[in-house]
Amino acid sequence: MIKKKINEYITVINTKSGSLPFYRLDIWLYIVDGVLIDAGSNNILNKIKFPLQQEKIDCAAITHIHEDHTGAAAWIKNNLKIPVYVAVNSIDEAATKTNLPFYRKVVWGNREAFVANPMPSRIETKNFSLDVIAAPGHHKDHVVFYEKSNGWLFSGDVYVSRKQKVALTDENIGDAIKTLNRLVQLDIGKIFCAHTGIHIGGKEKLQSKLDFFLNIQNQVNTLKKEGLALKEIDKRLFPKKNLWTICSGGEWSSLNLVRTI
Ligand SMILES: [Zn+2]
Repeated sequence: MIKKKINEYITVINTKSGSLPFYRLDIWLYIVDGVLIDAGSNNILNKIKFPLQQEKIDCAAITHIHEDHTGAAAWIKNNLKIPVYVAVNSIDEAATKTNLPFYRKVVWGNREAFVANPMPSRIETKNFSLDVIAAPGHHKDHVVFYEKSNGWLFSGDVYVSRKQKVALTDENIGDAIKTLNRLVQLDIGKIFCAHTGIHIGGKEKLQSKLDFFLNIQNQVNTLKKEGLALKEIDKRLFPKKNLWTICSGGEWSSLNLVRTI
């Protein structure tokens, strides 16, 4: 686990989540002037308790309810005794412990139930102001946090990488395109991603993800007009099956991407 201060106001915690050594994924947490952005997975909880206790944290702000962003939420609420903000529509889901499929349990672990606080429209810190922006697509109630004066975007799972070839069953790539279209209008310098760390040239990177999706959307529409079924389009555009698709039994697949774009 790495914990470092990248400037006077931002501390970064980076570690890997997963109980099998060959099957792990990165998690990045950010503490911005007292605001913890996202709460990692339950599988990293024991590693991050002490580092979190060492920091001055006034609240936690969760980009979306998925288990790799809320794993420490119950512990934070009960031990640090601070508000844990989630989108209003996800408060009920937060109140129930997750019951994950095996492949997600191995990597992230089940999240405990917690009493969430309703997400405000803006989070003010001593030095900054984080605008809460609705960013549906990866999840219907996903939000991002935008610090306008510095051009920082705390993006949760909205960016991750330029190219995305699989989507979860409840993702909606059509919505993701609309979200990216709005975000590229902003002056975003740095992206703080929950899985791939800090990216400079944020605006250009979001644009290139948007272009990637628009290109697929075009191809899907053309093949639809030719009369191909979604499964055939999927095979044509994504001939290689991704490891995640196999492990997840199709819950995470290119077909979901094709279906919702
Ligand atoms: Zn997610």
